[in-house]
Amino acid sequence: MKSRIVLSLLAGFTAAISFALLGYQVSTDSRSDAAIYADSTARNILEVIRRDIGRTFESYDLSVQGVITALEAQDFSKVGPDGQHLMMFDRSAQASDYSSILVSDADGNVRYDSESVVARRVNLSDRDFFQVHRDDPNIGLYISKPFRSRNGAYMAIALSRRLNKPDGSFAGIVSGSLRLDYFTGLFANLDVGPNGTITLFKSDGTLIMRSPFRMSLIGKEVPNSATLTVNADPTANPDRESSIDGSVRRFTTTRIGNYPLVLSVGQSLGDIYGRWWERMKSMLMMCALMIGALFILCFGLLSEFGRRRKSEADLKDVATELQRLARTDGLTGLANRRAFDEALEREWQHHMEFGAPVSCLLIDIDYFKKLNDVRGHLAGDEALQIVGRTLLDEISTQAALAARYGGEEFIVLLPGVAHDRAFFVAENIRHRIGDLHIPNPSSPSAYLSVSIGVASTDQFSYRGAGELLHDADIALYSAKQSGRNNSQTCPQDQRKPHIDAVLSEAA
Ligand code: GH3
Ligand code: MG
Ligand code: MG
Repeated sequence: MKSRIVLSLLAGFTAAISFALLGYQVSTDSRSDAAIYADSTARNILEVIRRDIGRTFESYDLSVQGVITALEAQDFSKVGPDGQHLMMFDRSAQASDYSSILVSDADGNVRYDSESVVARRVNLSDRDFFQVHRDDPNIGLYISKPFRSRNGAYMAIALSRRLNKPDGSFAGIVSGSLRLDYFTGLFANLDVGPNGTITLFKSDGTLIMRSPFRMSLIGKEVPNSATLTVNADPTANPDRESSIDGSVRRFTTTRIGNYPLVLSVGQSLGDIYGRWWERMKSMLMMCALMIGALFILCFGLLSEFGRRRKSEADLKDVATELQRLARTDGLTGLANRRAFDEALEREWQHHMEFGAPVSCLLIDIDYFKKLNDVRGHLAGDEALQIVGRTLLDEISTQAALAARYGGEEFIVLLPGVAHDRAFFVAENIRHRIGDLHIPNPSSPSAYLSVSIGVASTDQFSYRGAGELLHDADIALYSAKQSGRNNSQTCPQDQRKPHIDAVLSEAA
């Protein structure tokens, strides 16, 4: 049964641990699935924006280049203002609502305007995109910092190229402005989660547009934006605290074509793992419940095992107690005749093997019948108990056994004790009982006394334990004959007929 319980416990614990491992495995797997899904969503969003902005910039740059080509054309100066306007801006005419193209001279004064044949009276010399081209002939296409339009109606960035005189000196610029509303509209249609961000930077860290929109950030250099660029270490942890609002987000970045623009999608970790956690909560709860149930089952089994072990131990105790009772005399608490016979047999074997002496004292209360008659049976019982206790007291220091042999007869087995010492013990017992002064009016001494027959293996030679007992009986008889209240050993002459009887029986 024990091994079955151990097996059941093992199975229970194994199942509980398996559930825990399964729960852990499923949760980590689905957590990394959530991360993979978020990553692919971010890349898809980046791709959509990257393509749209790339196409817009490309067509816009083509328009700007188209203006330059028109300006450099041989017949440009031969046509009138309407023709020139058409030559320069026929392509940009279809450009979206978000853009317009201006051509300025070397002083920044606008000479041509895609929005009207008569150019607006504006000077661009304060704009960064004008100054950059004026100071450096090799810039090529330049993307400006965000700026507010002259009429204050909108924010825009400019794509600009330098105009050169035939000798290569600065002749002015062609700039196309692109309203930031274009980016706002683009970002608004994309879902990066309730706490996500889409940010467009210049590669020098200047923020062009961010969703969610915050006016104060436009045109500002964002701290640590370098870490968001595509040149940043690809093995670095993509989870970062945003320098703008302090939230922890996972940033995925890309560069837009060959333009000095970096696009970044930041997904809030709360958004990425929120749905995962919602799903996991119920699954982990179920796992925990199952593990809990298994543990309760295991502990139930354990306590059942303990209960059974205890009842087995109780049964063993009862069996031991029954065994003890079966070998004990109920009235005196001494060993009974059966226990004595077994002990004698054991000691006799020992005596035969090692030659150590064994002695027996057969003790009989004198005039006991009369004590019963005069003082009653209960007083008789009590006297028997007192005699029993006295015997135990006397032999307590020796490896001896005291037993009730039957009625008012007791027997003491003294292993390893020779005759003289045994006789001494017998006399001690007799005196102690006499000294108790238990009233026995029918006795000549008026008190309870005993007669004792002593038999020892060193006194005569014996062929069996039965002969020793027999001699003790004859010795007791002799004590009774000698007037009671004395100890006797078996007289040699009385022994003879008994030995003869035994020998003839054997023959
Ligand atoms: P003697 O001196 O020759 O030994 O005489 P006695 O009276 O002791 O011997 P006898 O064998 O005639 O009497 C023994 C008595 O012991 C008989 C019986 O009533 C009494 N007896 C035996 N067992 C018990 C017992 O358990 N309780 C009581 N109270 N008496 C018992
Ligand atoms: Mg008797
Ligand atoms: Mg007697």
